[in-house]
This record gives sequence, structure tokens and C-alpha cells, in this order.
Amino acid sequence: MHYVSTRGSAPVLGFADTVLAGLATDGGLYVPEIWPAAPQHISGDYARLAADVMSPYIGDEISADALASLCTAAYATFRDPRVTPLVPLEQGHWMLELFHGPTLAFKDVALQFLGKLFDHLLESRDERITIVGATSGDTGSAAIDGVKNCSRVKIVILYPHGRVSDVQRRQMTTVNSPNVMTLAIDGTFDDCQDLVKAMFNHAEFRERHRLSAVNSINWARIMAQVVYYFSAIQQVAANGESIGNGVSFSVPTGNFGNVLSGWIAKQMGAPIRHLVVGSNSNDILTRFFETHEMRARDVVPTLSPSMDIQVSSNFERLLFEMNGRDGGLTTEQLQRFRSAGAFAVEADQYETWLAPTFRAARCDDAQTAAMIRDVFESTGQMIDPHTAVGVLGGRTHQEDGVPMVTLATAHAAKFPDAVERATSRRPELPAHMADLFDRPERVTRVANDLAAVEAEVAALSGL
Ligand SMILES: *Cc1c(COP(=O)(O)O)cnc(C)c1O
Repeated sequence: MHYVSTRGSAPVLGFADTVLAGLATDGGLYVPEIWPAAPQHISGDYARLAADVMSPYIGDEISADALASLCTAAYATFRDPRVTPLVPLEQGHWMLELFHGPTLAFKDVALQFLGKLFDHLLESRDERITIVGATSGDTGSAAIDGVKNCSRVKIVILYPHGRVSDVQRRQMTTVNSPNVMTLAIDGTFDDCQDLVKAMFNHAEFRERHRLSAVNSINWARIMAQVVYYFSAIQQVAANGESIGNGVSFSVPTGNFGNVLSGWIAKQMGAPIRHLVVGSNSNDILTRFFETHEMRARDVVPTLSPSMDIQVSSNFERLLFEMNGRDGGLTTEQLQRFRSAGAFAVEADQYETWLAPTFRAARCDDAQTAAMIRDVFESTGQMIDPHTAVGVLGGRTHQEDGVPMVTLATAHAAKFPDAVERATSRRPELPAHMADLFDRPERVTRVANDLAAVEAEVAALSGL
């Protein structure tokens, strides 16, 4: 499989080079040259399913046996043998629990795999890398956990100071591995993301420190997330539900990575009807689906901080598709967005690419709290604020005869304050994390300044 950049002027790469590069040299994101069909007969446990769904994207760059072992090792770290279990919520509406990995959020599904994948690829090339990433909370801890035991990887994670939950922060700052550094930036998540992009665009720095990315611009993460859409559909069918009209998914959305993986599953032939894009009050995507215009506003903090985002970086991959895979056109549109703060898509693009599949919903903090309370009162299940946004979207767009699956993206105990306020009960951390608040923290506070951040990265990289 070959990979092309959404901006059209970076070199075409194979799978391993795409994964190790992260961002393309022209500032674009890598996508496969074609969307392959899913293998006809997929069955077996999650690790087997993962190897089957991902193998067309990897081709012969990793042997079938090696890929199977990577998947087995990655998914052995999950506390539920089904890895992503489906649980009933209400009539015709299910939740896919994606939070049984080490850091209690869906990003573990991709990042446990990515850590193993990096080790494998770097070992065979005798190379080393420094990962830099921005996080609005969950990516950072999941990325750190995924690579903390890798001998060939160093990792620097930037997060917005004071804007992630205590649990999220401690999951990053209490990992005591010499290859891990956390930086608290005086700014928003978008500032962190801009700093990371600026380091990647600084060619000399990028080369010297062999920078790589694990935020959701990395193709391997998007690819690994495609798997659980297939798993969900299998589990819905195994519960005796008809999937003849397809299955719809409601996806709490920030950077658009998770929901894009659903769109890709659909391109591969999965019977997916609608993908509901759920946003909190940072509703740039909801407004986009209403007005066909992407227009940025300032970020406001909400109960679901992992979705406090105004620029959804993975939307670029869909935009490239909508532009008939014209990288020049995509570059122009994104430049307009940068300079004017807005761009629009044509009516025919909207009708062809978006209207048949995507639905949108917004859920403010009051609705989020009400949803957490309502689900607790009617089912006894505690859901986290991100999942609550998804449940509202799922209820809004549910149709008769079409099973709806809301992706439960985090464990309630990751956001205990919001959940306790809504339910009067405090969700408990699972046993393996019970001493999280007793562990010492290691973190460096840094100004929103490229030179200051680069100095920290250079100190860790040692090159
Ligand atoms: C990252 C995250 C999201 C948003 O996912 P995207 O792929 O960025 O759209 C939603 N919920 C939780 C809990 C997350 O950690």
C-alpha cells in the first residue's frame, strides 16, 4: 500500500515510512492511495479481527505472523477479554465501551498498538525517534503508556496548563520512565497543537531530533480505530439484532479521528448507516454540518475537555476526499481557513460526501450533566461527560429498525467531579490505578513559546 499527502506535494511513502513520519513534509496528512475492501470472512477474537482489518493497509511490510503477535500483545493490556465490549443502554441503543485499556480512554485502543508497532519498525531499521505530541487530556497519557517501555522511543507531551482533569494530568506526570517528558504549556490545546506543528515545520530541528507524531494525525491510529467499528457490528449481530438496514454510530468528537475511522470502515464495506458527530459547546463541527461553512471561534472550557477543540485536524483527510483527492485545492482551502478563519464547501460536495452519512448534534454542559444523571437513574450505569455527549447524539438521531451504537470513549472515573455532581455518587478508579493520587508528579511548566519548548525537547532527545 502507498500513502499520499492531503496537500499533494510530499513524497509518496510506504506503510512503515508513513507511520514513522506522522505529518507529511508539506504539512499534510497521509492517507492510503485507495480504500481497500475488508477481508470477506472475519471472525475470532479482537486481536485476530484487528490483524485482518489492518493487513490490507500494511501489505507485506510486516509479516502476517509478526502482525498477529503485535495485535495480541497490544490487546492483552485490556482488562476485558472482548477488548471493546458492547453493552445495552436502552431499546435499540447500545454503548461500545472503549475504555478498558491502561489509561481508561478510547485512545488506548490505537496507542497500545502503536507502541508495539514503533518498537517493531525501529528495531528492524536500527533507528530511534523522539515523539512530540499535543494533548487535550487523553492522548498524552495513552501515548505515554503505549511507549513507556520502548527502548528506541523518547516522548514529549504538551498539554494546556490547568485545562486537563487531575486524573488525566496525573496519568501523564506520574509515569517514571527516563524516556518520558511532560510539558504544561501556558495556553489552550490549540496553542499546544500549533507548537507541535511548528516543530514539525522546522525542518532542521525535525531532522536532528528525528521527530515523530502520535496525535491522531498519525495514520496508524486512524487505522487501528477502524477495527472496533467492525467489532461493534459483529457484537450487535451476535445479540440477535438485525443489521440489514446498517448500524449507526454516535461519536463524541474532537479532532475528528474517531469518527473518521468510522467513515473509513464504511468505505471498506462495513454496513454503517449514519455517523453522528457529537460536539460540546465547542461546536464548530455542528455548525459546519448546519451551514456547510467551517468557521473557527474561541475555545471555551467544558465538562468534556478532550473535545475542547476548534480546529479538528483530521477533517483534512475527509476534505481531501471531497476535493476529489486534489492536494492543491485542499491546501488552498486550508490556507483560507488560516487567514480568514473560515471556508465553505460546495453544495454538491456536501450532497455527495456528507449528507448521506453524517449527522451532527451538540450538547452543552447542562445537557451533559442531565444526560449523565438520566443514564444513571434509568440504567445504574455511570458514563463520563464525553460519552454523555455521544448518548445525546445517539438519542437525537436514532431511527426505527437501525441499531444505534454510542461510542463510550472514557471511563467515568477519569472525570469523577462531573460525574459526582450529576449523580451524587463518586465513580471509583479501577484497582490498577487506585494509588494514582499518591504517586509523585514530574512536569515542567513552559510558556507558549516555540524556542522554550524546543529547548526542552532537545534536552530530552540529547541530540
Ligand atoms: C480524544 C477523545 C475524544 C475525541 O476524539 P477525536 O478522535 O479527537 O475526535 C472524545 N472523547 C474522549 C474521552 C477522548 O479522549
